[in-house]
Amino acid sequence: TSAPEIVDIAESLGRAIAAEPFHVADREVSLTASIGVALTGGGGAPGHLLRNADVAMSRAKESGGGRVEVFAAHMHADVMRRLEMASELRAAITAGKLGLEYQPVVEFATSRVVGVEALVRWSREGHPVPPAEFLGVAEDSGLIVQIGEQVLREACAQAAAWRSSGWGIGVSVNFSLRQVTEAGFAASVLSVLDETGLPPGALTLEVTERVLIEGGGPMADGLNELRRHGVRLAIDDFGTGYASLVYLRQLAVDIIKIDPSFVAGLGADGTLAMLTRAIIQVGHDLGIEVVAEGIERPEHLELLREMGCELGQGYLIAKPMDARGIEALVGSGWP
Ligand code: C2E
Ligand code: MG
Ligand code: MG
Repeated sequence: TSAPEIVDIAESLGRAIAAEPFHVADREVSLTASIGVALTGGGGAPGHLLRNADVAMSRAKESGGGRVEVFAAHMHADVMRRLEMASELRAAITAGKLGLEYQPVVEFATSRVVGVEALVRWSREGHPVPPAEFLGVAEDSGLIVQIGEQVLREACAQAAAWRSSGWGIGVSVNFSLRQVTEAGFAASVLSVLDETGLPPGALTLEVTERVLIEGGGPMADGLNELRRHGVRLAIDDFGTGYASLVYLRQLAVDIIKIDPSFVAGLGADGTLAMLTRAIIQVGHDLGIEVVAEGIERPEHLELLREMGCELGQGYLIAKPMDARGIEALVGSGWP
């Protein structure tokens, strides 16, 4: 009759299920259970009770599975908010209302802009929504695949236009797990390159360590096929995921992008400086280009240069801006 009592029962059910493997045909299958609990509170329709238990169960799965979650009112509000956001996002995609900004990547020695990173932008009723807020929803709903296609096409077309005006620029595009594990992913990237006329060598795909590790075989085949065509591969947010340095040898990557959390500590935190120096060193020893991200202060830049890092991006150098902004920057003889 009380919540703690119900949770106790649910937990012992979970333990019983996980305790021993099940025999299915001639195999042994180990299972865990994600359990959602909802309480009636004395009223409400049975349908609501089941729906609430379902929401709590999804939460239990999202938090890693094998656990018990009790429904709370905010969970329902969260689900509704995400559904609403997904439907507005879908409408924005159809209406072609997603935009792109580009952040320059600069070669320190020459101060030349050698590439730009394309970053998706969505303005919801006039207010910009940070990608971190809508990309999760896009990923869960599968909308990320359409978004990714639009982003890739626009970024490649823009870079091709810049190149045809005589500026030898490259462009980086971010890819999430869902995108690189989608069937036909490599073929779709190649067909965008073909349509836009961008040489494969001018495109870099950015994926995080997590994507490389969780993606699995078919994804690795796809990425390798793209690399065979000359597309470059970067590990984004390097140092924050689970990739050990061994992965750098196994996975053929061209670029590592040092996470801003390392760069932000330069000049203040000795351990971070030591790690940053080590990443740069290992990258260079393996023939991998190293790009530092999130450079905000002059001392960051100074230390990175002194550590032998050659490329970087960050607010100190230039914020992300629209294509016209990039043209104005380069046209003005910057820096
Ligand atoms: P990211 O790929 O690591 O991109 C760099 C992020 O750092 C961008 O945030 C950029 O605006 C921000 N940034 C640049 N310089 C500085 C700096 O000096 N200091 C600080 N604090 N931040 C800086 P943004 O645009 O909010 O994007 C966030 C993340 O969303 C990206 O991280 C990327 O993982 C993802 N993302 C963005 N666009 C796309 C896209 O088209 N497709 C996919 N799949 N993911 C995207
Ligand atoms: Mg990136
Ligand atoms: Mg990054």
